[in-house]
Amino acid sequence: MTRIWKCVVCGRYTLSSDKCPSCGGPVKNPHPPNINFQDKYINTIVKLRRETKWKQA
Ligand SMILES: [Zn+2]
Repeated sequence: MTRIWKCVVCGRYTLSSDKCPSCGGPVKNPHPPNINFQDKYINTIVKLRRETKWKQA
């Protein structure tokens, strides 16, 4: 799984764990990566449920 880091200076997300490619500032792990996947998963479920409701209605 790819870790996503967030620059503490400019707030940009980056895949670089060393430093921000944009401003060179330090990066930190904003939150556990699995939360990102969970959000993505929930959004997909919500979308699917909406589509299912449309078909049923
Ligand atoms: Zn930055």
